[in-house]
Amino acid sequence: MLPLRQQVFDCIRSQGQLSRIDVAKRLEVSPASVSTQVADLLGAGLLQEVEVPRDPSSRGRPPVALEVRPEAGYVAGIKLSDLVHTGVIVDFSGRPVAEASLPRTSLRTDLDLLVEEADALLVRLLSEAGMKRSDIAALGVGVPGMVDHARGVALWSPIIRGIDLPLASLMSDHLGLPVYVDNDANLLTLAELWYGAGRALPDFAVVTLEYGVGMGLVMDHRLYRGAHSVGMEIGHTKVQLDGALCRCGQRGCLEAYVSDYALVREASVALDLHRTASGSAQVMLESLYDQAKAGNEAARTIFRRAGRFLAAGLANVINLFDPSLVILSGARMKYDYLYAEDVLTEVREMTVNKGRTLPRIEINAWGDLVWARGAATLALEAQTAARCAGEAAA
Ligand SMILES: [Zn+2]
Repeated sequence: MLPLRQQVFDCIRSQGQLSRIDVAKRLEVSPASVSTQVADLLGAGLLQEVEVPRDPSSRGRPPVALEVRPEAGYVAGIKLSDLVHTGVIVDFSGRPVAEASLPRTSLRTDLDLLVEEADALLVRLLSEAGMKRSDIAALGVGVPGMVDHARGVALWSPIIRGIDLPLASLMSDHLGLPVYVDNDANLLTLAELWYGAGRALPDFAVVTLEYGVGMGLVMDHRLYRGAHSVGMEIGHTKVQLDGALCRCGQRGCLEAYVSDYALVREASVALDLHRTASGSAQVMLESLYDQAKAGNEAARTIFRRAGRFLAAGLANVINLFDPSLVILSGARMKYDYLYAEDVLTEVREMTVNKGRTLPRIEINAWGDLVWARGAATLALEAQTAARCAGEAAA
């Protein structure tokens, strides 16, 4: 349970603007205890008062609402990936004030180089925002793969050479900032929880399709990470015993049937599309999609098969967690075969549905920036906790 001061702050932040009395109603605590916390948060410069336009029929003083003071602090978020790193700086209310990206073309990189690239992206962001490094309170970083968020360690990532790497401390030493790291799908889920479709929901799941397949889970308004903070690896749940080889080294993982490299592997066999120096996986995938759209039956079969495996993965999520909403997100959602009506029908058929209401399934093809915004949210979350606690100690 969060301290009341932070609950008050989070409640106001999530709603944009809220009066003291509405905060008390939402948190089911007395207006007096809310007023005490609000006074401290105003004193610390974390909140500010705003006059809300009065209902013309009412008399008396115009009503006053509370909102987060945007200038209370700034944090940055960076999503590291194989083709492009994206970054954003947000103010204390979570509003982006600068964005930048850094294209690259390496599948696996030494951590040192990745840290330097993150530094270069941060420099771009700062120049975009007209800020100094010392204006940034913290940095959140998202990477694909298995990340131990609590220890700040990248256990395994498809974009980093080596295993068990102290990503957060290395970045922090190099950049001179507190750094928080997490799996990228968790950060996207955090963005949905703070700003997106999940804002009003206590329990929902996000499944992401990018180079790999990721997942984030919100339980009781909080991101669930598992006992060792490496949970929700839906991409490596098995959908076929002794099945296709996955890049994790095991066989039959969902990812080995649904991800980019799975589709490219099939395309190179069925369509005689061979990966050349100039033809990246991305180019091959686009070509495969174009051919499917143009009526090439082999190309269509590849997407349809991937869609069926995805349906099995989604049905497993629903059977296990009973979420009120499943959000499908990530760049590959532009391949509409992956969520065609027959895929959704298949999800329904594979879900144990005796007397249960099936959750809504929403497609959210937000751009790259939302991942970086999620990373910034991770930093903001840590800063909020520290600043609210600091105020409590004062
Ligand atoms: Zn795997």
